[in-house]
Amino acid sequence: MLIKQLAIIGVGLIGGSLARILRKMDACGEIVGCGRNLDNLEKAIELGVIDHYETDIKKAVAQADMVIVAVPLGAMANVFATMQDALLPDAIITDVGSAKGCVLEDAQKNLGTHYSRFVAGHPIAGTEKSGVTASFAELFTHRRVILTPTAETDKQAHEKVTQMWQLAGAEVVDMVVEHHDEVLAATSHLPHVLAYSLVHTLAEMEDRIEIFRYAAGGFRDFTRIASSDPKMWHDICLANKEAVLKILAQFNQDLAQLGQAIEQENSHEIMNIFNRAKTSRDEFNG
Ligand code: NAP
Repeated sequence: MLIKQLAIIGVGLIGGSLARILRKMDACGEIVGCGRNLDNLEKAIELGVIDHYETDIKKAVAQADMVIVAVPLGAMANVFATMQDALLPDAIITDVGSAKGCVLEDAQKNLGTHYSRFVAGHPIAGTEKSGVTASFAELFTHRRVILTPTAETDKQAHEKVTQMWQLAGAEVVDMVVEHHDEVLAATSHLPHVLAYSLVHTLAEMEDRIEIFRYAAGGFRDFTRIASSDPKMWHDICLANKEAVLKILAQFNQDLAQLGQAIEQENSHEIMNIFNRAKTSRDEFNG
């Protein structure tokens, strides 16, 4: 068995889904959940996602050989600091946070000597739903998981976290942390910022009820992710601020160029932009 006792700090969509698939694959003996919300934790037991729960992080990790931290980015530092002196000497710690530079910094500052067995990770999978009731075992099937090991990362810990994600059905890739944060700012963080911003703009308009009444396919496709948890995305934007601002500046410039082309009725320019976008979208969508 890959893991004797697994501790999941934050039994939500991601933590719950990982617990479900590891149980299904017989990869771990016992699963201990940890959180603050008793209703969510009781639900996790009822759904068979975890075996028992603790609300005290120290108690939750005390016997665990693998600890998965699946809380919002803004809560990571405190979770690491609290667990530090309760961890088993050879426990492996990993996380699922959507930005990685900030998590590595938090881990380095707060995990003490355990930092070398911390393997930062990010599953490129998710939905706009939150909490254990939204979790499902197939979430990571054929999806990528990015690990950002550093020169200090223990090889065995890295190997074990890789195996864990492979058992969960994911394809694991290693990436340099700065590259991860730039790529994800462009492919995930910017689209969320745009979706929230568009819905916000429309919601502020006087005739918003009329606008939303006639909102159909395009609006729904484009804005589904604006239903994601605001706190989670607040944390991501601040945690990956530099990379998000860089790609946002580029986007603002390109959007202004498109606006100008429309104003000038520059069909050539408009068609160029739309054609290029359609070709790229069709290509990567298969
Ligand atoms: P979620 O469903 O809301 O679960 C987060 C869990 O963390 C909750 O069960 C909550 O449990 C716990 N939590 C929240 N605030 C906390 C705090 N201040 N201190 C301690 N525990 C806290 O969120 P999720 O979607 O699973 O996201 C978890 C992590 O995965 C985030 O870091 C996110 O960046 C990352 N991620 C998300 C996605 C996605 O699409 N959703 C994809 C990839 C990675 P209690 O309320 O019981 O404490």
